[in-house]
Amino acid sequence: MKKQLCLIMVIAVLLSVRMTNVYATPMELVCDGNRYLYELAPITLYIDDMLVETQAMPPIQIEEITLVPVREIFEAIGAVIEWKEEEKKVYIAYQDTVIILEMNHPEAWVSGITFILDMPAKIINNKIMVPLRFISEQLGFDVYWDGVNRTIYINAPIEKVPEIEPEEESEDSADDTVVGVNQGNIRYENTTPKLLIDLKEEVIKEQLIIQNDYVNKKIIIDLGDNYETSFNNGSMMIQDTVIEYIEVKNTLTTQFVLHMNGIYEYELDEQAKKLEIKFIKPKDKYDKILFLDAGHGGKAPGSIANNLIEKEVNLKQTLAVKDLIENNTDIKVYLTRSEDISVSTEERPFIANDIGADLFVSIHNNSTSNSEVNGTEVHYYPDTNGDVNESIASLFQEKLIAYCGLKDRGVKPSPDLWVLKMSNMPAVLIEGGFLSNVSDASCLGDEAFTNAYAYAVYEAIVETFNHL
Ligand SMILES: [Zn+2]
Repeated sequence: MKKQLCLIMVIAVLLSVRMTNVYATPMELVCDGNRYLYELAPITLYIDDMLVETQAMPPIQIEEITLVPVREIFEAIGAVIEWKEEEKKVYIAYQDTVIILEMNHPEAWVSGITFILDMPAKIINNKIMVPLRFISEQLGFDVYWDGVNRTIYINAPIEKVPEIEPEEESEDSADDTVVGVNQGNIRYENTTPKLLIDLKEEVIKEQLIIQNDYVNKKIIIDLGDNYETSFNNGSMMIQDTVIEYIEVKNTLTTQFVLHMNGIYEYELDEQAKKLEIKFIKPKDKYDKILFLDAGHGGKAPGSIANNLIEKEVNLKQTLAVKDLIENNTDIKVYLTRSEDISVSTEERPFIANDIGADLFVSIHNNSTSNSEVNGTEVHYYPDTNGDVNESIASLFQEKLIAYCGLKDRGVKPSPDLWVLKMSNMPAVLIEGGFLSNVSDASCLGDEAFTNAYAYAVYEAIVETFNHL
């Protein structure tokens, strides 16, 4: 999905309505405590050729930007809408994209990237009104405005049929059979897809380091030495579904930073003076995938009490679980974070969805103003089709109580927990214990307790995979 940064400055003067296409009866708009008369003619809206008539508020235009009531329009195309009153933010999630708009705020957050809006979202007549074109295009829809008839058409993109390659090309086939980008000694073929790097000198294999920073959708290939004579600094645009662009950097070593358009695994084939890197989706490489989500991190500490910081406890527990899984099973583990870094909560379920994980386990610890409150609880998303999540949560709870021995607070349906709600796979969120309770806190800070905790979660994960 191509996302273009719009640099148009936000016009602060709002609601200066043009006097063309006048309404028979002007409509009163209440916005930010002020009243305005809106006199433009109505706008007709079609989504995938279906006429959409909103009940509470019609589409309106301000500064020639069309605003629509978020829930009525975007739920109609299958998006999930969430309003957070205390943050004054609306969350719009559709397939792999999540858009966050803060009321009256000039920026939008789209799956980790910040955009400047022509017009911020606003509460008008008590309805959340959002810029139609921006949201639709970010979700991959085409928008067409028929100014004569004041009609907007929003259409889902037509799936393109992939081009069929004539036949498997051999390594040395002529370039005209290769689809992709060729820039001297770096070549990208988007049919396999794979990247071919021709090296003038022989690269010492032991020095070659490839790092998959999947959370930030980057694969970094470090040749381990400076090959400036072969590769110039700069960027190579690819812009297909796999890679957006490749950055070449020569510092102490030569690095290729692959800015991916999704989470991919790679397979490396090294020949004497050639590197061949194939890209595959994690699910095509691994049979069983676990997504372990250490809560909070970086700028978000979580709760703090009794000399403990939640983000640290969460990470310690997460890494202990990861080690047990990796040492004893063939389950591939992906992590939101393996160190103290910030990862937005909104992004987390989408990382797991992109990976195609089979199970999502979020690791948190609790806190409350009442220091008496203690114990372990496991949260799950109350699924409409069966009680899979509940039974998985019960298994985790059972193991944790058996191995760790904190008070049993039971499993809890949590329809509003973002990571549980937005993840496509079975998901649980563990609140191991209360940092705010002296007794729980002393356990959470204890190494033997962490080992017991890790073992409980490890067993629950293994049993869950046996039944998935
Ligand atoms: Zn937490």
